[in-house]
Amino acid sequence: MNIILLGAPGAGKGTVAELLTARYGIPQISTGDMLRSAVKAGAPLGKKAEGYMKRGELVPDALILEIMEARLQSDDCRGGFILDGFPRTTGQAESLKKILGRLDMKIDAIVNLEVPEDVIIRRLTSRRTCSNTGCQAIYNIFTKPSKKEGVCDKCGSPTVQRDDETEEAIRQRLATYAEKTAPLIEFYRNDPAFITAPSLKPEPAIDAIESLVGR
Ligand code: AMP
Repeated sequence: MNIILLGAPGAGKGTVAELLTARYGIPQISTGDMLRSAVKAGAPLGKKAEGYMKRGELVPDALILEIMEARLQSDDCRGGFILDGFPRTTGQAESLKKILGRLDMKIDAIVNLEVPEDVIIRRLTSRRTCSNTGCQAIYNIFTKPSKKEGVCDKCGSPTVQRDDETEEAIRQRLATYAEKTAPLIEFYRNDPAFITAPSLKPEPAIDAIESLVGR
């Protein structure tokens, strides 16, 4: 099963993706995580992407498309995948269509996660992420704190606030979302695989996907 998760930063795409991975055994493909790993590793991609990410702007489409076409051809994507944070522009969505055509794949569910803006700002400023790039576990100081403050439960590395999760960066990311990514909702609205789900909690989105794909 191939799924696209749409929604503003902090709408819960990562949480929904985690549940879907557990249920269907298909990988979550997060372009944000891939870029952050490249930045940490000092890879050429990371060097090109870092400035855009810190400012809360989108990385140029060409960089993203190159990594995505390769990623979708990995063995672990044969049984399906969950796209989290891609596509982010109508240009990326057009290119994704072409890539899927070349790879003879189709999308089964395009899920738009809806959450009010004040909830998003609260969620993102209270988020902490494991600094170990191989782990990247996510916590929330109010709703999902690590057992020991500032230390990852899974691997023991320090948990940190991401550079792009300060209030200023978040407001910029939301402005970028409204300008560049929200138009994707109109792009996909008439697709039979498109659904919208409220995402204060992840369960309604999971239920909506299950009713759509009949499992
Ligand atoms: P995320 O964790 O998905 O919010 O991504 C963090 C940052 O990575 C974004 O603010 C962008 O700078 C960059 N990024 C992630 N995915 C994309 C994408 N599909 N296109 C362009 N930039 C992206």
